[in-house]
Amino acid sequence: MSTIVAIVGRPNVGKSTLFNRLIKRREAIVDSVSGVTRDRNYGKSEWNGKEFSVIDTGGYIKGSEDIFEAEIRKKVELGIDEADVIMFVVDVEEGITPMDDEVAKLLRKITKPVIVVVNKVDNAMREKDAYEFYNLGLGNYITISSTSGSGTGELLDELINVFPNKPEPTQEELELPRFAVVGRPNAGKSSFINALIGVDRYIVTDIAGTTRDSIDTKYDRFGFEFNLVDTAGIRRKAKVKEDLEFYSVMRSVRAIEHSDVCILMVDATRGFEGQDQSIFWLAAKNRKGIIILVNKWDLVEKDTMSTRDYEAKIRKELEPFTDVTILFVSALTKQRLLKALEETVKVYENRKQRIPTSKFNDFMLKLIEAYPPPALKGKYVKIKYCMQLPTPTPQFVFFANLPQYVKDAYKRFLENKIRENWDFSGVPIDIYIREK
Ligand code: GDP
Ligand code: GDP
Repeated sequence: MSTIVAIVGRPNVGKSTLFNRLIKRREAIVDSVSGVTRDRNYGKSEWNGKEFSVIDTGGYIKGSEDIFEAEIRKKVELGIDEADVIMFVVDVEEGITPMDDEVAKLLRKITKPVIVVVNKVDNAMREKDAYEFYNLGLGNYITISSTSGSGTGELLDELINVFPNKPEPTQEELELPRFAVVGRPNAGKSSFINALIGVDRYIVTDIAGTTRDSIDTKYDRFGFEFNLVDTAGIRRKAKVKEDLEFYSVMRSVRAIEHSDVCILMVDATRGFEGQDQSIFWLAAKNRKGIIILVNKWDLVEKDTMSTRDYEAKIRKELEPFTDVTILFVSALTKQRLLKALEETVKVYENRKQRIPTSKFNDFMLKLIEAYPPPALKGKYVKIKYCMQLPTPTPQFVFFANLPQYVKDAYKRFLENKIRENWDFSGVPIDIYIREK
């Protein structure tokens, strides 16, 4: 699980400009699922070999005309709550505003690392103007210009310098599947967990969270042993009604990153909405296993909507990653809960699956010979060898004489064939074409 960095600050100080700059380098790699637009507010970055996630807490209120102080305050609070490190962005052109003071007051109370980022320091003159930000009482600051990029190297050095040390997971933790129940508020996550676990909860051990009050709890149910991730955070409800997307995404990021398989709960009475899709892509981008549970199925009039129609509608929204199990459940009547758990375990197994190289070559090379990549500008691509990489999640490499001539459509063809022949249901796959 990577360190989570939240960018906070009032509007127009340059948070999203900085966010884009931080994640730009990684964009192409992270968005391995082609044709999908990147989440504007959440991304991954890396500096000196250290990976981290970045959340732009301001992105969600972009475009709204009336931005209330209280709302910004709530976002900052949630950012502080969910992140490991906070970047507090201020604007040298404006100086310290009353709202900056408000935010600083919140940040002075916490023990997590805070980096004050003085933005829009586009020239040497403005370096002097930055002095006043010492008055925020948050110690040293870093000056940057997000538009030109100057100072961002120093900022990143400082950032990884303050990263909290996370203990290495124990062998037991590594071996137990970690499941996270995610979804928009009121989808039925807590009901599902309670129904699955029962009143006495079958808790075996509690492993205290390292950076906050979250807990991984080990369960032993129906013959399966697993950890449920961050259920404390999920049970601790967001009290706010507005900005559900922001809250559900923020609450989900940590749970998703910490899991092997995400159980995405969808409210059947509302359908698969934008927020569900955001969370789905969050999981897919993080290469997590995914299963979709359409909950509250007891409330749906079966005459108007069959499971088949409903499923087809959802699957359309998942394109191009449609190889995902969708189950119709009810946490209330406990319908198909055991099945849901069985299928979740299956996704976990699929994600760990390793295909022997000889078997993989036998199958794929024959197929590639029959359906070679289309020739481009009179050049023929030859693929002579392929294998699954020894990575924690399924990644496949194909060695070709002209890798740059292999287009995404052909990669998708390869992926589909792999999925037809081996069960990778619910598991994102990466395909790489490399020069041999
Ligand atoms: P946010 O509301 O905090 O996310 O702010 P934005 O990233 O949308 O930036 C607000 C405005 O400040 C935009 O017009 C940016 O182009 C501008 N801006 C951002 N960073 C810089 C900078 O380093 N220098 C200057 N001069 N302008 C900047
Ligand atoms: P969470 O916010 O995702 O944890 O959602 P909750 O578990 O708190 O459920 C939200 C509401 O939906 C509660 O009133 C639950 O009783 C109700 N609910 C949850 N699952 C079901 C279900 O399968 N059927 C019905 N009819 N109601 C459900």
